[in-house]
Order: sequence, then C-alpha cells, then structure tokens
Amino acid sequence: MKIAILPGDGIGTEIVAEAVKVLKALDLSLETETALVGGAAYDAYGHPLPAATLKLAQDADAILFGAVGDWKYDTLDRPLRPEQAILGLRKNLGLFANFRPAICYPQLVDASSLKRERVSGLDILIIRELTGDIYFGQPRGRRIATDGHFPGAEEAFDTMRYSRPEIERIAHVAFQAARKRKASGGAGRVTSVDKANVLETFQLWKDVVTEIGLQYPDVALDHMYVDNAAMQLVRAPKKFDVVVTGNMFGDILSDAAAMLTGSIGMLPSASLNDKGQGLYEPSHGSAPDIAGKGVANPLATILSAAMMLRFSLNQPEAAARIEQAVDKVLSQGLRTPDIYSEGTTRVGTVEMGDAVLKALG
Ligand code: NAD
Repeated sequence: MKIAILPGDGIGTEIVAEAVKVLKALDLSLETETALVGGAAYDAYGHPLPAATLKLAQDADAILFGAVGDWKYDTLDRPLRPEQAILGLRKNLGLFANFRPAICYPQLVDASSLKRERVSGLDILIIRELTGDIYFGQPRGRRIATDGHFPGAEEAFDTMRYSRPEIERIAHVAFQAARKRKASGGAGRVTSVDKANVLETFQLWKDVVTEIGLQYPDVALDHMYVDNAAMQLVRAPKKFDVVVTGNMFGDILSDAAAMLTGSIGMLPSASLNDKGQGLYEPSHGSAPDIAGKGVANPLATILSAAMMLRFSLNQPEAAARIEQAVDKVLSQGLRTPDIYSEGTTRVGTVEMGDAVLKALG
C-alpha cells in the first residue's frame, strides 16, 4: 500500500508528522513517500503542484494531505498560488466526492459554540461535490477599464456550472451513504441543498437529485435552500442525516458544521474518485496565525488517516484502533488550545500525537 504524503504549508507539516507517526505504529505494510506541495513547492520549484508531486499522487493508493496557503503568496498570479495545488489534485485525480463527517464527541460537547442539548449526539455527514461548480467554471476573469478612470479591474466574473452526469454521480454517492448509515441506525435521509429559487444551475441540481432519488425508495429525500440550511445547521443540526450539495455551498456549510463539533481542528475529510482512490485531509487550512507554535490540533489529520485506512486501504480494524485511541485521549482530558475548557489538560501538537500513539495500545 503506497501512500503519498503531502504536508504542504503552515501547520500542515506539524499535523501530518503526527498522523504519519500514528500510521507507522500500526504495523501495516505501508510504503510512504513525501513531496512538497503548495507554497513550499512554489518556493522550491516555482510551481505549487510540480509534475513530480502530481505523479506521486497519481501513482499512490491514497494521499495524506496537510494544508496549503499563506498570506505571503496573495500577490502571486492565481495559477501560482498555493491553493491551486489542491484544486489541481482534485481535478487531475477526479476526486469528485468529498465526505465531511461532523461528529460531536461527548467529551467535547462543551467546546461547541452551541448549547449542549443542540449538539450532544450529533452525527451528520456532509457530502460536497468537489470538481465542478463556480470554482471550476469557465469563463472566469476580470475586465480591465479602458477609459483610464479606474485603476485595475472594473468588473470580475466566475461562471457557475454543473452538468447532469456530475450531479448524478454525486447524488448516487449521497443516497448510497445514507443507505449504509441507515443499516447501522442512521435516519436514512438525504437533504439536498440548493438555490433553485434563484439559480438555473441549482434548478438542474434539484431536478437531477430528485430523479436519482427515485432509485432509492428506502432513503427519504428533502430539499432545502442554502440560506435556510445554514440557519437550520445552527438551529437544529441533529435533524440532518446526510447533506449533499455543490462545491461552493458545501465549502461554506461544512466549515459551519465544523464548529458544531467544537473545533475545525477535529474534522477529517475524504475526497474520493470513482476508483476508490482518495485524498485525505483535515477540513481546515494552513492556519498561518498559529503555524510554528506547536499548538495546532492534529486530531483532524489523525482521523483523516483513519478514514484513509477504511475507504482506500481496506483496513477497517486499523481505522477503528485510531478512532478508539482518539476517543481515549479525549476521555483522559487532553486538549489542544482550540478545544480546551476549564478542568482539562492543555497539550501541544506533539504531545497530542504522542498520547494517541500511546493509546493505540
Ligand atoms: P484556516 O482553516 O487555516 O484557519 C481558520 C482558523 O482556525 C484560524 O484561527 C486557525 O488558527 C484555526 N485552526 C485551523 N486549523 C486548526 C487546528 N488544526 N488547530 C487549531 N486551530 C486551527 O483558514 P484561513 O485562516 O481562512 O486560511 C488560511 C490559509 O489556508 C489560506 O491561505 C487559505 O487559502 C488556506 N486554506 C487551505 C485549505 C486546504 O489546504 N485544503 C483549506 C482552507 C484554507
């Protein structure tokens, strides 16, 4: 089993080191190879996704990714910015289905910004389409003023677009996930989030999801406008089971859902293609504000490694060992600053990784 390790920038290197440490302790025959990506790759090779890094990712069974980005690259041309690396990997590997489970650990109920009763027992799954929508639309650009009155751009535009096959395949993924969750006690419901009242793209989305839903009579389907979905996520998040939505709405809603669980530092993600190959990364970014301080929470990345073992490497027992170890360190009261509350023990990134390692048994 070959894993490409792409730590990236900022806290990416710190948190991926902890996840690799945990993976290596599992005694599986894992072959790992590390490469630069994002701003680190730009600094070394002049491109955020060098050909060698892309090839390593393409040839691997799975990719463990940290995060990319730093404010110091904000003035670069867009194709050279670190964030283009993750978009390039998603597009080149066809990673169209992004799974973001938002689970509130009982030990962290009080770290959530919502009241205990709103989030206690929360277990929802957000499925975000990842290779279409406005992030990949054409045309895109800026119109430059010609009359000399306005310096720089006068107007900018990005095109929102989805095709029927793109919506069909993500809808199938969502219905199948809801069916699987139902088999282990889930509600068996898909909520499709759109903006069909205003956008043609999302009228098509709604129509196609409805059509595909007919093939899954055992799974309930409802539709919700994205503005309402944002409100319901903080009003009554437990009413959701599986949420499926487009790239941009999913980006925003999944960050909101992250806070329900206590911290974005707790939220893993998996991005899969139709061959089961996957890229696994925490839902957060490179957090330049805390990079290098040794305080980043590595648990989202460690839990992403567990998702990798389950989804791409067919090692469900090893995945469960990691998840149980994370549960154990939380029960021991260990907390990085983002999830700290009175009466618990504050630890740094490395100490948290060490504790998970020890809890593996
Ligand atoms: P961010 O997720 O990096 O940080 C948001 C806030 O959450 C910050 O206060 C940060 O300190 C905190 N945070 C994030 N991860 C944490 C962790 N593991 N432990 C503790 N606290 C954590 O988002 P941002 O500040 O909007 O973006 C920073 C950079 O990351 C930007 O360059 C952005 O483009 C990039 N980014 C990259 C990805 C990716 O690589 N997939 C995703 C999102 C943002």
